[in-house]
Amino acid sequence: MRNPTPDESNLRAAMVRAALELDARNLNRGTSGNVGVRCGKRLLVTPSGVPARELTAQGMVLLAANGDVIGAGHPSSEWRFHRDILASRPDVHAVVHVHSPFATTLACLGIEVPPFHYMIAAAGGSTIRCAPYALFGTQELSDHALAALKDRRACLLANHGMITTGRDLADAVALCVEVESLCEQYWRARQIAEPRHLTDAQMAEVMERFKTYGQRADGEQERP
Ligand SMILES: [Zn+2]
Repeated sequence: MRNPTPDESNLRAAMVRAALELDARNLNRGTSGNVGVRCGKRLLVTPSGVPARELTAQGMVLLAANGDVIGAGHPSSEWRFHRDILASRPDVHAVVHVHSPFATTLACLGIEVPPFHYMIAAAGGSTIRCAPYALFGTQELSDHALAALKDRRACLLANHGMITTGRDLADAVALCVEVESLCEQYWRARQIAEPRHLTDAQMAEVMERFKTYGQRADGEQERP
């Protein structure tokens, strides 16, 4: 039995808290959805088919950079996109995937969320892209997700759900809450009419302001 380092133990505990929070906020139900975090040159992923309330810190699955399981456990079927996102994006240290109601509704319609609200910029650009459909757990899905996440911190997955990323788990969970809220607002607006879209210049101004003020995805100011 290997002994995890203090850092790894902290990450494992944070993953349990994140999964419970996603469940409590109705962003995940049952065994859908999963989280992954960078752990040195390796990654930790939630196990396959375990509901959030039954997750334990010890039950998180440690993977080598090539995806091989280190120790015991069966990782989430979506471990490939967790591995690939963490490998190709040094700025990302945590990945959250959910089938939340409003994001998934838009994803099932194949909708790219336009700049109808300035907070779209929290996801890294002027749109939240929707990756084309591919079977869950496949390399094809991971490739589509990676392309949709180019210069972005979040994307939808067609006929499936959404992915958010962050510099840590709290950051990725906060963005997940924000994107779900934006998807709900866009869905509501479209019951009346297509909302006016902000221009590229207006979105560029927001992104510049976010940089200047160190804005977090949760809308709070960065603490010094
Ligand atoms: Zn999924």
